[in-house]
Amino acid sequence: MADSAGARNPERIEIALAGNPNAGKTTLFNRLTGANQHVGNYPGVTVEKKEGLCSFDGVTVSVVDLPGTYSLTAYSEEEVVARDYLVRNRPQAVVNIVDASNLERNLYLTCQLLELGLPVVLALNMIDVARDRGIEVNVEKLGRILGVRVVPLVARRGEGVREVLAAAVAEARDPSPPRSRPVSYGDDLDRAILNLAGLVEEKGILAGTYPPAWLAMKLLEGDKRVHEQVRDAVRDAAVLETIEQAVSSLAAHLSATLDSTPEAVIADHRYGFVRSVVRQGVMVRLSDEDRIYASDRIDRVVTHRVAGPVIMLAILFALYQFTFTWSEAPVAWLGAGFDWLAETAGDLLPDGHLRSLLVSGIIRGVGGVFGFVPIIMFMFFGIAILEDSGYLARVAFMMDRVFRTFGLHGSSVMSFIISGGIAGGCAVPGVLATRTLRSPRERMATLLTTPFMNCGAKMPVLALLISAFFTTGKARMMLFLTMISWAGALLVARLLRSTILKGLPTPFVMELPPYRVPTLRGLLLHTWERTRDYLRKAGSVILAASILIWATMTFPSLPAAEKMAFAEKRQAVMAAAGIGDAAQEALPAAVREEIARINAEEGEAALEYSIAGRVGRALERLSRLSGFDWRTNIALMGGVAAKEIIISTLGTAYSLGELNAGEDQPLAEALKNSPGWNRVSAFSLILFVMFYSPCLATVACIIRESGSWRWGAFAMGFNTLFAFLLSCLVYQAGMFLGLG
Ligand code: GDP
Ligand code: MG
Repeated sequence: MADSAGARNPERIEIALAGNPNAGKTTLFNRLTGANQHVGNYPGVTVEKKEGLCSFDGVTVSVVDLPGTYSLTAYSEEEVVARDYLVRNRPQAVVNIVDASNLERNLYLTCQLLELGLPVVLALNMIDVARDRGIEVNVEKLGRILGVRVVPLVARRGEGVREVLAAAVAEARDPSPPRSRPVSYGDDLDRAILNLAGLVEEKGILAGTYPPAWLAMKLLEGDKRVHEQVRDAVRDAAVLETIEQAVSSLAAHLSATLDSTPEAVIADHRYGFVRSVVRQGVMVRLSDEDRIYASDRIDRVVTHRVAGPVIMLAILFALYQFTFTWSEAPVAWLGAGFDWLAETAGDLLPDGHLRSLLVSGIIRGVGGVFGFVPIIMFMFFGIAILEDSGYLARVAFMMDRVFRTFGLHGSSVMSFIISGGIAGGCAVPGVLATRTLRSPRERMATLLTTPFMNCGAKMPVLALLISAFFTTGKARMMLFLTMISWAGALLVARLLRSTILKGLPTPFVMELPPYRVPTLRGLLLHTWERTRDYLRKAGSVILAASILIWATMTFPSLPAAEKMAFAEKRQAVMAAAGIGDAAQEALPAAVREEIARINAEEGEAALEYSIAGRVGRALERLSRLSGFDWRTNIALMGGVAAKEIIISTLGTAYSLGELNAGEDQPLAEALKNSPGWNRVSAFSLILFVMFYSPCLATVACIIRESGSWRWGAFAMGFNTLFAFLLSCLVYQAGMFLGLG
């Protein structure tokens, strides 16, 4: 029955899972809570929060899956979220999942959890992998040295899961406070911490939130967030002054004696602590000689200076092939489905605004987005394989040096590729993929430049213009454009990083996690999570935008008198051919053509009369500098809602009425034969489409990910200005040189 410790426990125990990325947190979390989970967000940030329930020994245990972090500094949102959660919610047990095959690296976080005085239980995961590599961890000894409960675990197979839960519940019920395990940071720091902690305790600064010694250590470490919190909490200017003095005198001292910073010294000692723990016989190598692990052997080839990039290109090309080959059929089915829906709705509804809204606005607009879902799903699936197997980290590793010179990070590559860096991606998941970047400035620079890639929706526009104006060397042209998009992205990133996003790269060691065979379940889960994100974000924005665009291209409608004039023209044609109203079905071809022409004319007049038409006209004076007329302007404005809309709007604006994707030849012909269009204006338009404002779905994601609408507005304004200047320059130069 309930012992004394159990009796004083509440019925509900809260535990949190903390650990490095890829340590197996989510796997353990799923094992613990099964379907009993809930996904939300941490307040005010974009980091996902997973909560779930399970029960043990008659108690309800609520489990939170914290974001994966290597550290508890304040460099990334994940770190801040994890740290704040642990400090504010004070879970009764913190299950720290540690990858036994990478013990040293993982224990760095453990060290920081212990510094915080948290009730830690160590779940020693992946002992299967460790064993394969000839590593055996002495569980009992590790527990003794750290002073915490340690449980061996193979989360993937579910071995040890109950035991972890049991240990967490036992820790939660343990009335003795967690053994604090002071790590020494060297004489100077230890003394400074002790002194400052005394002051913190005496003045009760943030008492109850942070342990005084931890707060003192963080202040000395120069943790920005903690400094802010202290500044907010302390009213007494003299106390603040004392604190600042302690911090700066220590920094000066360390700089003079060790030529180092408090932050670096603290990190060094943490590593030292971890190394000493591991060296005390905790880790036993089963084989004597330092084996070359399978991962290392693979890496010798895969990250080879010459072979590496070749293999990378081959793999990326394979991913691309896979995505487009496999998604071809489902894309066609979806397209056919939406066509059928549009036709059926068209047949069922009477002619008028309602039908036009439903068919042209909603079904076509939303269909355009859903049509991309299969491509995106296959792309995500392929990327999940690369990611879960550990290959993606190698790509980032190889590209890191190149990208650093542009103020980006190796991990930026992935965002670029997902956004269409090879051709045909989507910036929405590309923007989401920047989450893997830990440095805020590099992340922002990636976030803002990743929409420059040629996404799947820009591709048809580029293809159309290329096939109309650059009939020779199409493939070369495509390759050229891809290179331009990368060059543009890298140069703009460089520009941003030396102006508004100025700052040193955040210190961050690139990790090469061991290769692993991905599980199907994990792949499907990752694919689904990302597809769901895409649908949620893109779907709602596109629906609203499609309706808005439809309305601006429809209203105000032509005055009745003008409509009458067109009706009369039609009647005149019929009368001339001697046909009455009744016989409409059997019109001779010549008459039918003539009537279609009049209809098209009416369509154009109506478009010019609409809001979109007027704005397009108004902008024409400016856009002429780049070689665009008012019709193109309308299409480009529509393209801000979604790049898919550019083609369909151009089609409508060039009076081709019902234009579907299969028949782009006539539009290409129409453009070629239109006055004002030539190779130079076409190329100028291509450049503009590549670089101007991201689509609204992307802007929405940029706002969400950056946490401020200002960055969304910046992306729209800056990119459009950049694109305009570029296309203007190219058009003017091209025309001057007589290339048109
Ligand atoms: P998280 O980033 O900490 O949430 O890590 P995940 O739970 O997503 O796990 C990362 C990868 O490690 C997945 O492919 C898991 O299937 C795999 N994994 C998790 N636990 C184990 C384990 O005990 N043994 C092995 N071999 N793989 C594991
Ligand atoms: Mg996870």
